[in-house]
Amino acid sequence: LSDRLTSVFSSLRSKGRLSDADIDATCREIRIALLEADVALPVVRAFVARVKERARGAEVSQALNPAQQVVKIVHDELIEVLGGETRRLRFAKTPPTVIMLAGLQGSGKTTLAGKLARWLRTQGHAPLLVACDLQRPNAVQQLSVLAERAEVAVFAPEPGNGVGDPVDVARRSIEYARQKNHDMVIIDTAGRLGIDQEMMKQAADIRDAVQPDEILFVVDAMIGQDAVTTAQAFMEGVGFDAVVLTKLDGDARGGAALSVRHVTGRPIMFASTGEKLEDFDLFHPDRMASRILDMGDILTLIEQAQRTFDEQEAAKMAGKLVSGEEFTLDDFLEQMMMVRRLGPIKNLLGMMPGMGQMRDQLNKIDDRDLDRIAAIIRSMTPAERRDPKIINGSRRERIARGSGVTVTEVNNLVVRFFEAQKMMKRMASGLGFPGMPGGRK
Ligand code: GDP
Ligand code: MG
Repeated sequence: LSDRLTSVFSSLRSKGRLSDADIDATCREIRIALLEADVALPVVRAFVARVKERARGAEVSQALNPAQQVVKIVHDELIEVLGGETRRLRFAKTPPTVIMLAGLQGSGKTTLAGKLARWLRTQGHAPLLVACDLQRPNAVQQLSVLAERAEVAVFAPEPGNGVGDPVDVARRSIEYARQKNHDMVIIDTAGRLGIDQEMMKQAADIRDAVQPDEILFVVDAMIGQDAVTTAQAFMEGVGFDAVVLTKLDGDARGGAALSVRHVTGRPIMFASTGEKLEDFDLFHPDRMASRILDMGDILTLIEQAQRTFDEQEAAKMAGKLVSGEEFTLDDFLEQMMMVRRLGPIKNLLGMMPGMGQMRDQLNKIDDRDLDRIAAIIRSMTPAERRDPKIINGSRRERIARGSGVTVTEVNNLVVRFFEAQKMMKRMASGLGFPGMPGGRK
């Protein structure tokens, strides 16, 4: 996958402007790449059409070459389709908040119920797990074991009472949760290996009995192309508010995420990444976009594109310094943070004429230093940051206490800052940055 895209992009790299032919050629390859990532065909078609439109409408960027620009459009579009930001759980106005899980057998519902319960407990909730899968012989026991591990309560039909009615169990569990002050109820349901009407009806009956605040559709990321039909069937049969993707620790390429999102319009809320209760996280569209693009060279191109933006920021900063504005501790901090974002400092400074001394200064600083320096500066008052000369002995002690460092470290920082400030003044009055935006003419 990445080889293919890389070759297209490198053929684009040398040209100054994206032509329609370039866009068409690129999109043909992107289409194949997405199919290889297991995205369903109709979804691929729609996606590629949107990318084309954006690529045609996009202004030719100053900062990015055409290849980077296409990569960025594809990546941005993927993130957008995958949901932009992650959506949060909706809580009921009057507790308990009822969450119902639906999905095929083996998709990971019961495991997810345990994970979700544990996660909610660590956030201060008191969840109740409800066993409404009464079809599989050991399903109730599986949930009880998970509940114990997650250290949460479980509501299940008494053993020996014969096979209970899942709708009845669900209904009674809500009553029980109210009595025992559980603010969250998580209902695990039965699934079948294939989509089947009886299963859908049971799920719909449970839904009607408890009126969940959230119905989560749980889907195995490994099912690839089948995700579309499964999601559609559950959308029609039960309906759902959000999606949970499971088994993302496997080698699934993530196409299911794009397909489900596209077909149902529902956000993907959580990601399940293993068999352990801790293998659970909010869904991150940006990570999934990278996964679908199959990492490697494509990501390198995206990072390069991103870096170019950051470099423009750096140029702005340089412009500010040269214009003679006072260089403050806030600038100092901002500059160091920028260095961290940019990674290898030499690359950046190599592009900024006259920055050799600054490079030597900054090369002495590693990431952990940077965190401490940030803490120290953030423990200063605005007046101190503007004019560090006022930082006397008692202020130093206060700052040291506030940032959890020694007074010596505060001293060192202040000394270092004065050095940097002197250097900035020298540069501003001396050579300046010829050719930098906002710099001296
Ligand atoms: P259910 O039938 O939908 O309730 O699915 P289960 O929760 O019983 O999970 C089916 C199988 O998949 C079990 O063996 C789980 O341990 C496993 N499983 C569930 N979620 C994940 C996951 O995110 N990653 C991996 N590797 N296995 C999982
Ligand atoms: Mg189950």
